[in-house]
Amino acid sequence: MSDIREYVQSHDIFCHHDHHYCYRDFDAQRTKCDYRSLLGYADTDLLVAASLPALQGPLTDAQIAQWWRYARTTGYCQAVSLGCQALFGLAFAPENAEAISAALQASLAGKTAAEVYHYFVHERARNVWTICDSLQAMGLGQALEPEQYPGSYRFTFRLDELYSMVDDGPIATLERFTGRSIQTLEQLAAAVNAAIDLFAETGKLAAIKIGMAYQRDLRVGQPTRAEAERAFVRIRNRAVAWDGLQQHSGAADAATGRALGDYMFHCVLQRAADDDLPVQIHTGYLAGTWGALEGSKALHLIPILNRYRTVRFDLFHASWPWCSEFGAIGKNYPNVWLNMCWAWTMNPAASERALYEWLDAVPFIKIFAYGADTLLPWCNMGYTLQAKQGVTRVLERKVAEGVFSERTAQEVADCILLRNGLVLYGLD
Ligand SMILES: [Zn+2]
Repeated sequence: MSDIREYVQSHDIFCHHDHHYCYRDFDAQRTKCDYRSLLGYADTDLLVAASLPALQGPLTDAQIAQWWRYARTTGYCQAVSLGCQALFGLAFAPENAEAISAALQASLAGKTAAEVYHYFVHERARNVWTICDSLQAMGLGQALEPEQYPGSYRFTFRLDELYSMVDDGPIATLERFTGRSIQTLEQLAAAVNAAIDLFAETGKLAAIKIGMAYQRDLRVGQPTRAEAERAFVRIRNRAVAWDGLQQHSGAADAATGRALGDYMFHCVLQRAADDDLPVQIHTGYLAGTWGALEGSKALHLIPILNRYRTVRFDLFHASWPWCSEFGAIGKNYPNVWLNMCWAWTMNPAASERALYEWLDAVPFIKIFAYGADTLLPWCNMGYTLQAKQGVTRVLERKVAEGVFSERTAQEVADCILLRNGLVLYGLD
């Protein structure tokens, strides 16, 4: 083992992105967790291997057995294999399904949820800090119940529906959450700020998270207040007029929502600027299949990066497959940090090339190497090992080529694995 390999493998690591269940939700399902819970994102590669447009219900044992064989070489599946082998000493293979399920349940037996999280996240994966966001609207209850998570977790404020409104769903969510009535655009903006206040009061709010690439493209316009107001009134009134009606006029709704969504995006960015809160934005490839990829590239955010120069943008997922231009963004905009969370597993080879390139162009204080992006604590093992494997290979190559000394490689590892995250999120 090279010195740098050993150094990276034993290094603590900052997890920039996860969706872990709170203890309560975890406990509600822990006894049902079997070998399939290790799959994480790999289920979509099985779907693609099977050329299925969609799954009707969860993958069956027979489907996994049939399609794992052809998908097992992808990054998603490599993470599953790495995690399974490291945690249970078993190859992830259909013939080991029962043994893996038994080993997983044995590792949970007699442990509280807190002990399970500590064991998998801290002890095994060495994820010393985690920035967690919920997939439920606004992470409701999540940041507000920090005792439902390990003390090493910090949270994001996330309400993606706000930026792609076609109905008053997000408005109703905010009304419930803040106890305020929202009848005007001004009240909507005030309610968003009040919701952020509630998160901030916990002392555990790390960032604003924007995952709107799943609902819309990342091109954000500059609607006037009047345009946004008109959109708000139309959406609000239609919600009332539609009571009991089942009609929907897709394109027009999207156009209406656009002015309001863009306006709210600027409101939230202004709040981030005022409070010096980092902003995490999903860019690049989308989880699942059939995602609208073209609108997700980080390049679309350039007007925003230009406009909010004091906001610290933590841009996600290496913007794969647009990694080279992502590197150029990191070089050109001092307010951008390049984040490789989830990238290693989407495409390990492209991620290695990206990191290798960026280190030639971007100061290494601006790169984050890892975020698992999983729901369950044991899944972090495979994603951590995969990221460390990629980082190791890149640094070994730099040393072998005489570009970095061993000492420089270690310093880069310290920064991209841990230190840069501690500094950006004020945890040092
Ligand atoms: Zn995610």
